[in-house]
Amino acid sequence: MKLSRKISIFVLLFSVVLLILIVAFKYKKKPNFYRAHLNSEQWDKTNFEYDKINKLILYGDEDEKVKIKIPSPECYFFNLKGKQLIQIEPRITGKAGFYTTLYFRSMSEEKIHCRLILQKGDEKKEIAHIQKMDFNSSFIRNLDIGKKEKIILSFTGEGIVAFSVPIIYTKNESKEKNYIFLIGADTLRADYVGKNINGNSLTPNIDLFKKNSADFTNAYSQSSWTLPAFMSLFTSLYEFNHGVTRGASLDQEKPFLVRELSKKFLTFSYNGGAFVGKKYGFSRGFDLYTSLASLIRSGSGKIMFDTAIKLIERTEFPDLFLFLHTYQLHSPYAPDLEFLYKINSEPELLKFGGYHAKKKYKRVDEKKVGAFRELYQAEILEFDHYFGEFIRKLKVMGFYDSSMIIFMSDHGEEFYEHKAWTHGHSLYNELIKIPLIIKFPHNEYKGVEISEDVGIIDIFPTILEACKVKFSSKSVDGESLLPLLNGKKLNRKTLYSSLSTGWMIDAIPPKFSIISKDSKLIFNYPFNSERLTFFNKDSSPPQIDRIEFFDIREDKLEKDNIIDQKEIPKFFRQRIEELRMAINKALATKKRGKIILSKEELEKLRALGYIN
Ligand SMILES: [Zn+2]
Repeated sequence: MKLSRKISIFVLLFSVVLLILIVAFKYKKKPNFYRAHLNSEQWDKTNFEYDKINKLILYGDEDEKVKIKIPSPECYFFNLKGKQLIQIEPRITGKAGFYTTLYFRSMSEEKIHCRLILQKGDEKKEIAHIQKMDFNSSFIRNLDIGKKEKIILSFTGEGIVAFSVPIIYTKNESKEKNYIFLIGADTLRADYVGKNINGNSLTPNIDLFKKNSADFTNAYSQSSWTLPAFMSLFTSLYEFNHGVTRGASLDQEKPFLVRELSKKFLTFSYNGGAFVGKKYGFSRGFDLYTSLASLIRSGSGKIMFDTAIKLIERTEFPDLFLFLHTYQLHSPYAPDLEFLYKINSEPELLKFGGYHAKKKYKRVDEKKVGAFRELYQAEILEFDHYFGEFIRKLKVMGFYDSSMIIFMSDHGEEFYEHKAWTHGHSLYNELIKIPLIIKFPHNEYKGVEISEDVGIIDIFPTILEACKVKFSSKSVDGESLLPLLNGKKLNRKTLYSSLSTGWMIDAIPPKFSIISKDSKLIFNYPFNSERLTFFNKDSSPPQIDRIEFFDIREDKLEKDNIIDQKEIPKFFRQRIEELRMAINKALATKKRGKIILSKEELEKLRALGYIN
């Protein structure tokens, strides 16, 4: 081939590649949203103290400190004297939305004026004007941003101003939403979903939702109470690997997978706080992490879903991850009587405060056990009703089809099946088996039932893979469940649950469980006499073997320990050694007493029966 011909082929190829690159660049998908991080000049930290433990901004002198609750995990604040302008580069043009959580408080007789302005050269267009002494709310406005226009937040007056990182987003007015709803119904036992009560299902709406979803019929939590279980969800780590305890929040270098998701999604949460509170590290990567006192109570399922609907109605966010959590089913049980009467028209009890830690193992008569169970079932029936309403609203709004909806719980609840109450004390299936139902966009995997053992640690890797968000899968214990849904196997051979580092009641010694196929082993560290003195006389813990081994296919209730009849398989013996080493290491490095609870938080824990 002649040299000139070679050159012309090369030039032609080069031009084609260049053209492709130019076209690709031009049509590259523009970001749907943008978080406006301010530079330090626009954020005046002088005169403020930041209380990291209680997540408060403190202002003023020693005698009279004004406390400002941080409006979001990350926020900006300044001391307003006269006028202050915050300039924000929009980076997005056309129809857009503006979101921030805004707090201000006047320190003079005059109101504070807050204006949202679009500015081009000297031309100014006022979009919103608030004049108040106090303001503490979401601030959402619609904008039509022209080229070269800037967004100005202007404040005049004297006082304190704080706001969360402003979000500017392209409004998605179409019905095709890229939404992920993660719904955590705290304390929902797996075997109560679809349970037959008086000839009817206890959860007709969840059953209906299941029809369009993938159902994981053997899903296990990695612990049996709220704090370690939800931390395993968000970190995809075993309890002894994330190491979060009542006394220590999540280390900064540990994974928290909302951070990864936040690269592609706006991340919001309404939750019941307490053991899913900010101070343990749960708010990382969230744009808004709001713990509402109203989500602690019975009836809070309705409040949670209503709050979620209000948010998505008002914002029209393009891509949203919304974590919803309620303590509706958690003791104390006080269901709406309308639902209780559906369970039993003449109930023995109308409400039950729940047993405190000291009465964890208290024996009561069968009739009373039945009455407690009815109250819990009525709470489930009530929650299911509002769950159904939520799903129907999403359908009417047109958001249902394209959304991913994950329904799960963190642990179950015991009604004296193994001689104890509530949760956080054992690893039997009434406590660690959880519902896990995932509705994928456009009902992909509709009606698929997966019976393999999966964990709460697998939920986030599944969400991330489904949304094509990259993360370091080597740094987590969980696995994406998509291969299972596509007929393949998981890499994992066992699944662990434990109460080791992050126990709920100090007097209960550590334990761990190993599940592999149809066998389950529980390893119980012994009670010593000092631990036993904690419990009331009439509620001492039952005698249990150090190692329990169950055939969970034949013995679903885990009543028959077959350790005497059977040699522990080598596979399990090896896992025991590995786990004991991992737990001992975690216990040795366990941090204590770092977290100080505020009055309000102690009140929440009291309301849930965790402290006397
Ligand atoms: Zn819980």
